[in-house]
Amino acid sequence: MFPQDALQCGKEQNPIRVISEYAAKRAQEIGAENVFNFSIGNPNVPAPDIVNQTLIETLQTVPAAQLHSYTPAPGLSWVRDAVAQDLNRRYGTAYSADDLYLTAGASGALAIVMKAILLPGDEVILFAPYYPEYAVYGESFGGKMVTVPLRDGDFQIDLAALEAAITAKTKMVVVNSPNNPAGTVFSQETITALSELLRRKQAECGHPIYILADEPYRELLYGENLVLPFIPNDYDNTIYTYSYSKCLSLPGERIGYILVPPQVQDHKDVYAAVCGAGRILGYVNESTLFQYMLPKVLDKTSDLSIYKTNRDLLLTELTKYGYEMAKPDGAFYLFLKSPEADDWAFCERAKQFEVMLVPGDCFGYPGYARLSYCVDTDTVRRALPALEALMKSYTE
Ligand code: PLP
Repeated sequence: MFPQDALQCGKEQNPIRVISEYAAKRAQEIGAENVFNFSIGNPNVPAPDIVNQTLIETLQTVPAAQLHSYTPAPGLSWVRDAVAQDLNRRYGTAYSADDLYLTAGASGALAIVMKAILLPGDEVILFAPYYPEYAVYGESFGGKMVTVPLRDGDFQIDLAALEAAITAKTKMVVVNSPNNPAGTVFSQETITALSELLRRKQAECGHPIYILADEPYRELLYGENLVLPFIPNDYDNTIYTYSYSKCLSLPGERIGYILVPPQVQDHKDVYAAVCGAGRILGYVNESTLFQYMLPKVLDKTSDLSIYKTNRDLLLTELTKYGYEMAKPDGAFYLFLKSPEADDWAFCERAKQFEVMLVPGDCFGYPGYARLSYCVDTDTVRRALPALEALMKSYTE
């Protein structure tokens, strides 16, 4: 006998990976140039040169016994301090190494935070559409996921719907901006109003309601003068997770962090619980080589301009073909309204045109499909006739 959740999770598989593997199989069968894989958020732009330069330099200069050795479980304190100073410089904060825990990407960070915070029966509010792994982690630690849909059309937070969903058992609200899969960004006004609402609700409930701010797409913003609010500066009980997968194009290297700001109520205990959860889950000692690299690349990103080019091209052309979608201000996803009610059927039909999309149902928002445009612009251009033909198959 095995734990039911593990068995079920393993048998079901992550649908995004299933579709992406199907795309790889089709590429072998008919040639990669004939397959338009818009399923997975795997950045196509290379990491900046400084990443490899720093890694090579580190390998050449740091003695092997030191470089390949264990570090403290949350990471080397001078590396955590460098991350803290980088945040302080950007956001006017006063963080230190003692507020940070380096992790295996945002996935590791999210799993640790959920394990550290949730007691069985605690409610976690997810704004739908949402990144599906939130529910995988949260439910495995006994949390109950409560879904609050973002507003249909602009995918912004509906504060009245949120307020109606909060109960005495609400322990956490997950906020992901720029958003996967909708691509929307929550404005400063929204975050200010959200913070006010949660402060009021915390006072009523008599216990903290944490915001889990998950921001792996923080630097991927397209709007002119668009500023992403830094949620810990608005709301004290924010636990913050970040990943270098997207903006530095390093998804396979598994680097990210958890920030527990000193303002969080019972900070010492929350941070201790994060360390304990990391230990329980086996997420200790993020790769030492990549820890050594981190301080040199903290203020760098890949060349993210291609994503804006892709977004603009797709928005213009797909709108002409008759697709409906919210204009994304960040991340690298378009959330298309399915031309038929059944989004799984729509994505199956897309496969006939060698276009791979992910049904909105996978993100808790049926009737839509996610198109991930972190591919090269040439692929986008070559996919346009297929996307047009797909829509025509409904209208003609
Ligand atoms: N959070 C969101 C919103 C994501 O979209 C992803 C990955 O796509 C993750 C977390 C996990 O990222 P990582 O590669 O750092 O584990």
